[in-house]
Amino acid sequence: MTKVVYSAPDEFGHFGTFGGKFIPETLVKNAADLEKEYLKAKDDPEFIKTLEGLLRDYVGRPTPLYHAARLSEKLGGAAIWLKREDLCHTGAHKINNALGQVLLAKRMGKKRVIAETGAGQHGVATATVCALFDLQCIVYMGEEDIRRQAPNVARMKLLGAEVRPVSAGTRTLKDATSEAIRDWMNNPEETFYIVGSVIGMHPYPMMVRDFQAVIGRETRRQVVEQAGRMPDLVIACVGGGSNAIGMFFDFLPDARSVELVGVEAAGEGLEGKHAASLTKGEIGVLHGAMMKLLQDQYGQVLEAHSISAGLDYPGVGPEHCYLQRLGLVTYTSTTDSEALFALDTLAKTEGIICALESAHAVHYAMKRAPEMPKESIIVVNLSGRGDKDMGTIMQELNL
Ligand SMILES: *Cc1c(COP(=O)(O)O)cnc(C)c1O
Repeated sequence: MTKVVYSAPDEFGHFGTFGGKFIPETLVKNAADLEKEYLKAKDDPEFIKTLEGLLRDYVGRPTPLYHAARLSEKLGGAAIWLKREDLCHTGAHKINNALGQVLLAKRMGKKRVIAETGAGQHGVATATVCALFDLQCIVYMGEEDIRRQAPNVARMKLLGAEVRPVSAGTRTLKDATSEAIRDWMNNPEETFYIVGSVIGMHPYPMMVRDFQAVIGRETRRQVVEQAGRMPDLVIACVGGGSNAIGMFFDFLPDARSVELVGVEAAGEGLEGKHAASLTKGEIGVLHGAMMKLLQDQYGQVLEAHSISAGLDYPGVGPEHCYLQRLGLVTYTSTTDSEALFALDTLAKTEGIICALESAHAVHYAMKRAPEMPKESIIVVNLSGRGDKDMGTIMQELNL
């Protein structure tokens, strides 16, 4: 099978027609300084050594690749393997990226860190690394999300961060992100903005991808070691797209023999309220980049909906838009109730309570496994654990 030659973004941050830097003049220097520093750091052996050391001793990497034998047995068909990002410190893959960016903040001599958060997982990861490196930390969060995600708000405060409520718009992640960008414009000298997914202006989508690519790098090695060969199908859920691109990136050269599937949130169904930007969105600009977006006929960004706060974003990373156009990755969607069903099934067969986000990917694996031969291998990226979702789960499953 011929290898796929894939290289993106270009030097301006374009993934085909997507991505780029749609920013006001006041942000141009910030973005350029960040890019310059990142390009230096990523090839600096000292930086790499520090990051790898912390990923090992502080985050707990490599995370295991686990054969979900009972789940596979129950479904009949392909063997399902889970990449256990839920076992990372702080409970999700977000910390891989937060750690990389905080090391950059340190290099640049920044004293103040800002971040946006939806479910609160990125806020918690950022507050965590700021505590570790003694940096001031301010997290912007929509008032609606503050209400829905109270335990994570408490965690951030306990870690020493200030949580700033955002009351604009729908009072969710999109509005929190806009507010964080405004803060960065107003405080360009001393502030480092830690973005939580592969979104925003260049260099963020590239940089966050590179920090998350450790997931796929480990998986590729582990699956060959433990299962004896490359997988047939690799699945990840897609909100902004960071855990998915982190998983897919090292598999892209094999994209003709390994099927890569990203799963968005279909919410209440694709005809109702959902967050399926790649399936239902149109091209537009949000938070500094060209991407596929949920918008109305006037280009106004629509409110996204998903039972999982982490998938509840009306846009999606530009690289996913490009990979979809190139046909290297396929994108599908899972509804709220399907995700809950998958979460419940995984808990009862494997003793693993995953995040509602990750349950979207698990459901797609459950759909595909029975129709595949026994020798085939499915890898699912289990992006996080379900502790943060217990409130929702208790309500929805009547526990
Ligand atoms: C934030 C989050 C997601 C969605 O973000 P991506 O950038 O798409 O990965 C998925 N799963 C978990 C557990 C999360 O915390």
